[in-house]
Amino acid sequence: MRVTHEVLLAPMTTLGLGGPAAVLFELFDPADFPEFVALADAFPAPPVCLGEGSNVVVSDAGCEGAVLRMSTKGVRMTGRADEERVLVEVQAGHLLGDLVGITVAEGLTGMEMLVGIPGTTGATPVQNVGAYGQETADCLLEVTAWDWELGRVVTLDAAACGLGHRTSVFKHSRRWTLLTLVFALRRSELSAPVTYRTVAAALDVPVGSRVPLDEVTQAVLAVRRSKGMVLGCSGTDDRSVGSVFLSPEITPVQADGLRARNAPVNRFPDGSTRVSASWLIRQAGFALSTPIVEGVRMSSLHYTLVADEGATAAGFTRAIELVQQEVLRRTGVRLTSELDFL
Ligand SMILES: Cc1cc2nc3c(=O)[nH]c(=O)nc-3n(C[C@H](O)[C@H](O)[C@H](O)COP(=O)(O)OP(=O)(O)OC[C@H]3O[C@@H](n4cnc5c(N)ncnc54)[C@H](O)[C@@H]3O)c2cc1C
Repeated sequence: MRVTHEVLLAPMTTLGLGGPAAVLFELFDPADFPEFVALADAFPAPPVCLGEGSNVVVSDAGCEGAVLRMSTKGVRMTGRADEERVLVEVQAGHLLGDLVGITVAEGLTGMEMLVGIPGTTGATPVQNVGAYGQETADCLLEVTAWDWELGRVVTLDAAACGLGHRTSVFKHSRRWTLLTLVFALRRSELSAPVTYRTVAAALDVPVGSRVPLDEVTQAVLAVRRSKGMVLGCSGTDDRSVGSVFLSPEITPVQADGLRARNAPVNRFPDGSTRVSASWLIRQAGFALSTPIVEGVRMSSLHYTLVADEGATAAGFTRAIELVQQEVLRRTGVRLTSELDFL
């Protein structure tokens, strides 16, 4: 474990924003966690947990207390070669992209559509990370976590994680630090059914088709790159948190009306029907690359906010408010941010 003081957090976030951590603990070896707990108990509040910083806005003032950066790595598979179901146990700091690569190479289906999403595996239940018809809830079996209220390690099954659309019991809570996660995947050379039209079009197959795992990951990556949703793919829009806003839930009547206007309306695994937040932002009159406040603008590829030289966390937060106000004024829909403000 590495312990440092007054370290700038900005370089540890994909937005490149945020002040220092009073004390930063970087955990590489899971065996050091008890030592970390003993040190963290000296602070008045549970630590702020940071993975790869791809879904957070760290304030310009930084974090007063302890910040734990999860950098533990490791993937262990259990299950006989003749069994269809394989359990995959992963350390919380393991990169999701690496995990998806390993599972696809092993011929396991269940998380192939999550390819290209940055961040750590430990953060995936926090907002039930998902994309292109798949989400963490589809394959998460259980997690182990340190419960700062009970002062011990607990095992929570997927139901206890309360996974919903980009939410869970962990979202906006510091009660738990996720340590390990177990996913149940299935052996198959073919992907889950392709439910997104854009991905099906990239593959030139009908919606609902199942295709070889490596082909679907290439197609998803191509679609994501075209929207700047793969870090490092654009060169100009890389100081990003992906989507800033949740796609708002709509009623069946609203869905019919919006579909008639060619709005991207999708049904999600939790049963909700939602309209794309990007479409609403565009309807509100924002153009790609439009500056919103100093150092913060619309991405040049997608209707989401990105940071440039001169950005601050306060400015980014202000830009979020301005987009929310304008979307509400022009479309009558209130957008909610999916980010965590630390
Ligand atoms: C280009 C881009 C594309 C993206 N595309 C998608 C997408 O398609 N779908 C999607 O759902 N998200 C997407 N995201 C958002 C983001 O990648 C995910 O939310 C990711 O899971 C965040 O992981 P992280 O390690 O960076 O978490 P961080 O940003 O470091 O943390 C996020 C939250 O999780 C908490 N947390 C992190 N680790 C732990 C832990 N071990 N225990 C307890 N709490 C923890 C943090 O305290 C914080 O509240 C995208 C982001 C970017 C930049």
